[in-house]
Amino acid sequence: MPLTTDRMIDILDETHDPARRSWVDSANGHPDFPIQNLPLGVFSPAGDAPRIGTAIGGHILDLTATARAGLLPETLTGCLGADSLNALFSRPAAERRTLRRHLSALLSDPAQKPVLAPLLFAAADCRLHLPARIGDYTDFYVGIHHATNVGRLFRPDNPLLPNYKHVPIGYHGRASSVRPSGTAVQRPCGQRKPPDADAPLFGPSRRLDYELELGIWIGPGNALGQPIPIAEAPAHVAGFCLLNDWSARDLQAWEYQPLGPFLAKSFLTSISPWVVTAEALAPFRLAQPARPAGDPQPLPYLWDEADQDRGALALTLEVHLSTAAMRAGGLSPHRLSRGEATAMYWTVAQIVTHHASNGCNLNPGDLLGSGTLSAADPGGYGSLLEITAGGSRPVTLPNGEQRTFLEDGDEITLSASAQADGYVPIGFGPCTGTVLPAL
Ligand code: MN
Repeated sequence: MPLTTDRMIDILDETHDPARRSWVDSANGHPDFPIQNLPLGVFSPAGDAPRIGTAIGGHILDLTATARAGLLPETLTGCLGADSLNALFSRPAAERRTLRRHLSALLSDPAQKPVLAPLLFAAADCRLHLPARIGDYTDFYVGIHHATNVGRLFRPDNPLLPNYKHVPIGYHGRASSVRPSGTAVQRPCGQRKPPDADAPLFGPSRRLDYELELGIWIGPGNALGQPIPIAEAPAHVAGFCLLNDWSARDLQAWEYQPLGPFLAKSFLTSISPWVVTAEALAPFRLAQPARPAGDPQPLPYLWDEADQDRGALALTLEVHLSTAAMRAGGLSPHRLSRGEATAMYWTVAQIVTHHASNGCNLNPGDLLGSGTLSAADPGGYGSLLEITAGGSRPVTLPNGEQRTFLEDGDEITLSASAQADGYVPIGFGPCTGTVLPAL
């Protein structure tokens, strides 16, 4: 195993040991939740109240009860009694790491089974909630292939605007309509103006799309007026999720100038409900891809050598589509794309630092979206807008159905897997939503 370093995001310890196994049998070999992951979330067992838990294989361990039983450090007990992770996110990363080491020890030691087994629930019998009360949600635009593809649809010769390589582009999204995986997406109504129409119409969107994004959970955050230096930015990231920024492209095209996305995006944002902690992802850190020759050097406040060395993530991201007809016919979901999270032109630390650079305060439980992550090649495009070239090249599915944009009954599932030589892969669990007809 590589040497432990003193940078928190890089700390490797016994919790990452690939030989470690759990007495919860379903965890061993589990594609998402082996004992090396231990993601945090909020769940309720059937008919019971929400509480904090960790996913272990096909089960969930009740952390509120585990803390109450005196099996976790007393310093953490206050954070684990709530029905959200905001209090835990507000604590320093070192305390999350302490929690992780205790959980890993408890779930790997067979002697603990008699004590903990009554606090385990089959995940299939539980309901997952939003893991935190999200005060603010901001969506960025750091997927450079996405920005290039979309820009090209509008400006074939000059796809990226001049600011793109100098400043991480983002907009303030809507926190009230963020929902956990499994929430249906009702087709939104809104204003659109077809190119050949004289006047806009109001009605159901005809160009409903998804966006594959990485979600970033803010940890302690900063006080108003106090920027976050980039070397400290990793300490303010508690963890990650998948994020689907459902988008009504026809509404977006008509409304977005001059102030950016509004109702085309705010009808729903779906997230995977498990928080994969920054600590769990320590083995899956990569160097940020070098900027292409000729690209501008970022301004000093956005530049940190350590961040360039280890600020990217070895994550493979996939999107699957299942139509109502496919499900009725017993067909497996069709993979629309597969790509890597290294498509981010700016690192997570850079977007956190940029967000706070004017003194804007980030709070525990705030959610950031990376922006759509498309690979350079068409097999990894992260939205139908790109896959179908603006709706001009339909996708043909295995049963002969075609899609330009989403139809009622379509189900979209995002997934992610972190992989690195010598380590047990971990996943995020699904981020799923099915399209319902407009009201
Ligand atoms: Mn987006």
